[in-house]
Parts: sequence; C-alpha cells; structure tokens
Amino acid sequence: MGSLADLHCHSTFSDGRLTPTELIDLAYRNGVRTLSLTDHDIVDGLPEAFEAAERYADFTLIPGIEMSTDVPGNEVHILGHFIDWHDAAFLDGLRRLQESRLNRAHLMVEKLVSLGKPISWGRVEFFAGEGAIGRPHIALALVEAGHVHSVNEAFDHYLSRNGPAYVPRDRLRPEEVISLLLGVGGIATLAHPRELLAAGDLANLLEALKAAGLTGIETYYQDYHPEEVENFRDLASRYDLIPLGGSDYHGLGGPQQREPGDIPLPIEPVEKLFALAEQRGALERARIAPAR
Ligand code: AMP
Ligand code: MN
Ligand code: MN
Ligand code: MN
Repeated sequence: MGSLADLHCHSTFSDGRLTPTELIDLAYRNGVRTLSLTDHDIVDGLPEAFEAAERYADFTLIPGIEMSTDVPGNEVHILGHFIDWHDAAFLDGLRRLQESRLNRAHLMVEKLVSLGKPISWGRVEFFAGEGAIGRPHIALALVEAGHVHSVNEAFDHYLSRNGPAYVPRDRLRPEEVISLLLGVGGIATLAHPRELLAAGDLANLLEALKAAGLTGIETYYQDYHPEEVENFRDLASRYDLIPLGGSDYHGLGGPQQREPGDIPLPIEPVEKLFALAEQRGALERARIAPAR
C-alpha cells in the first residue's frame, strides 16, 4: 500500500459528485495511493472503481461501503472495508435498503410540497442519477428551485433529523449492520464519531459495538482538530479499536469539505488494517498495487 491513504469517499453511485473514475483520478493526483470507495448502502460503483484503479501501477483499492444505522435519537454510520461485495444475500439486503431510500425520498418530496416548498420528483431523480438516492439529492433540488441557498441550508431548515421534511429510513441497529458486514468478511469502523458526542453516550455505544465486532473508529476526519483526534485516539486505545480515517469526500462543497488525501491519516493504523485483512483472508478482495 502506498503511504497516503483515504478510507472514506463517495461517488455518483451515492451522493458524491464525481464518478468512481473521476474520484480515483483526483485522489491519485492528490497523492493518495490507498483508497476505499464507501458509497452509502450500495456497492454498484465498485466495478468501475476497480477498472479505474487498474490504470495506476502503484494504486491500491479497497472495496468498501458506508451503512446508515439508527440508535434512539441519533444516526450511526458504519464503514465496512474489504467486504465480499459479490455475496448474493448481502446484495439482496442492499437492494431492500435502496427501495426503502426511494420510498422515503418520495415521502420527503411530498412533505416539502405541503410545506409550500415544492420540488419535482424528476429533478430529485436527476440529481440522484444511477445510484443510491439520499437527502443530498433532495437538497440539490431545493437549491435549484430557489427555496434555499445551499445544501447545508436545506439540511438546516428542512432535511435534518429534526427538520420538518425529514422521514426516517428503514431502521437498522448498528449491531445488526456490523454483523452483516462481518458476514461478508468485512472490517467494521464507526464513522465520524464527533456526531455522537452530543448525545453523551459514546462510551456505552463503543462498548456495545465493540462486543458486536467493531474493529475501527474514524479518528482522522475532515475538520477534526488535533485535540479531537487525540481524544478519539484515546478512545480507540481504551476500546482496542484501530484509529482510522478518511476525507468523506463528496465534492458538494461546504466549509468542512476536504479533498481526497487531505487528511493526516498516519500509515501505522492503515498497516494494522491490512494486517487484519490478511489474517482474515480478505486481502485478495482488494486491488493491491503490484508495484509497491
Ligand atoms: P441520507 O443518506 O439520505 O440519510 O443522507 C445523509 C447524507 O446527507 C450524509 O451522508 C451527508 O452526505 C449528507 N448530510 C447530512 N447532514 C448534512 C448537513 N447538515 N449538510 C450537508 N449535508 C449533510
Ligand atoms: Mn453522504
Ligand atoms: Mn456518514
Ligand atoms: Mn460518508
């Protein structure tokens, strides 16, 4: 694996702006030599990503996914790396999640109409493109219709968990999703844990998720400042988790956005991740750079 890694990125197959090929080209230009594509509840971008990765002799690609789960009052995102993404039962489960996302998006558009902020379903579909539909696509339609100035404002006024147009997805508990990911040989990591600090029960959650088979905690992330990173490194060592990280690049702008590779993820935890993948016989599911 190359020395600069980014383990969390999105493409047009979920709510990212770049195709998997464009994402890999940008990451490569930025010096990234180990990348994971982690679209929301979907793996359909992986074939293109693997094809794009082949063009670089010194580029390693890890198959990944980010799955949305819920705990009372909060949303918990779990990253899965090195997953066996061809597994039929897994793909079936993902298809059900896509259906649930689609129904929920329809309901949110209806709510917006009744709130006097109409957007057309066709425009939401347009922004969603070929992949997993999500709130960012509704946000883009709201911006286009002139109801809000930015994607962030769309979330603040309408689409956030407590917003008037919010509709929940099918609820999965994080423990269920961790077991799903382990079932396809994946390595599970808790994403962007800052969002769980407000609720004040991160320690309890980590305890439960560790028992369910959690392996990592995203520690190096977007605008996390050094004291925060230090705090999450402490938690990682307390719960024996690997402190991983990534840019969570979407390409939609906003003050927190970081480019692929623009995250000070040290090489040691990445090496730990690879060692674990090797132990579990999962290394072969990645495209490991032949020249490294
Ligand atoms: P969904 O997958 O439909 O539940 O939408 C969640 C996605 O919306 C996240 O993965 C982020 O990409 C995006 N998102 C969540 N909160 C915000 C926010 N406050 N501003 C902008 N984007 C957000
Ligand atoms: Mn997203
Ligand atoms: Mn997330
Ligand atoms: Mn993400």
